[in-house]
Amino acid sequence: MATEETKKEQQTDEFIQRLPAVAKKLYLPCKKCDANRFFVVVAHKTEKSAKVQCEICKSNKTFTIKKARKKGASKRSKAPTAQQVWETLKGKFGIDGEAYGMRNTFEVNSVIDHKKFGLGYVIHAEAYKIEVAFEDGARFLVHNKQ
Ligand SMILES: [Zn+2]
Repeated sequence: MATEETKKEQQTDEFIQRLPAVAKKLYLPCKKCDANRFFVVVAHKTEKSAKVQCEICKSNKTFTIKKARKKGASKRSKAPTAQQVWETLKGKFGIDGEAYGMRNTFEVNSVIDHKKFGLGYVIHAEAYKIEVAFEDGARFLVHNKQ
């Protein structure tokens, strides 16, 4: 029974940093003493901060628990770049493109081989205009010209 309790406590300590209890001592740098000193916990201010007092000079300061860093929790929702979009389309529709010419007619998802811009994928089509995703960005091109 006792060992179970100990185990649990150790696990908790590994993952959660808790404030030390009042009257416990912490070894912290003291500005006034200009050295590391033992500070006595005087009182808890919040769940994460406590008022502590230097044992030597009796100056007070606030001890705060640093927030644990969450890994990979941020910066996930970035819009894909033109090249990423192009790569995805390339994987989906392949590299067998039809030579571009303004008299040709293209449909959405058609693969285009453009003399100047290279391989492109039609992402939008209107009667006489298509929007094509090229490696360096999307472009509007004329098609179906009579
Ligand atoms: Zn001090």
